[in-house]
Amino acid sequence: MLLGAPGSGKGTQAEMITRHFAIAVTSPGTILRRERDLETPLGLEADEISKQGGLVSDEIIVHLIEDWLNLHGRDGFVFDGFPRTVKQAERLSEILQKRKAALDLAIWLEVSEQTVRDRIASRLQCRRCGFTTSLTSAHFAERPVCPYCDGPLIRRNDDDASVLQTRLTEFKAKTEPLLSFYEKGDALHRIDGNRDRESVFADIVALIEERVP
Ligand SMILES: [Zn+2]
Repeated sequence: MLLGAPGSGKGTQAEMITRHFAIAVTSPGTILRRERDLETPLGLEADEISKQGGLVSDEIIVHLIEDWLNLHGRDGFVFDGFPRTVKQAERLSEILQKRKAALDLAIWLEVSEQTVRDRIASRLQCRRCGFTTSLTSAHFAERPVCPYCDGPLIRRNDDDASVLQTRLTEFKAKTEPLLSFYEKGDALHRIDGNRDRESVFADIVALIEERVP
């Protein structure tokens, strides 16, 4: 699993991992969007909650993640930004125990607040497949089209300053406690996420090759 603040590069690294190792990847956001598009009862309930500005409960998120694991998680999996709270992490441990599976790696991408602000200010995302890149990349600034699916690259609408502040505060309060949760086992590894994506990815590949059977 990949953990880290908004803007730490989790999504980008998760995409690079899934392409390199052909491992299934998901994130709570991806699952919630798909459930909403399929108009499942949970998807509609979660959509209603987010529309009213609420956070989708740990129970709903964990339930959807478990369903996803049953469908796609047989040959390994990567979670991008899950778990987000200690409660979700505890439930995930139970689910993995039930499946007789173990968590090989919890990768924590460490980034400074300045890195987060710089990245989020210049982030572009593909509306179709979710690929994320940077406005400062001249190639994309010239022609904002996704290199993977030709979808339109747009500024993420959740990226304005006050939303970012809320997400960072939320991250510190609810997600950072996961550090001590996972420090109890030996799955946790910290990686300096302030560097370019290729350097970060090289470290992640080395870790996966060393730690994952
Ligand atoms: Zn795309």
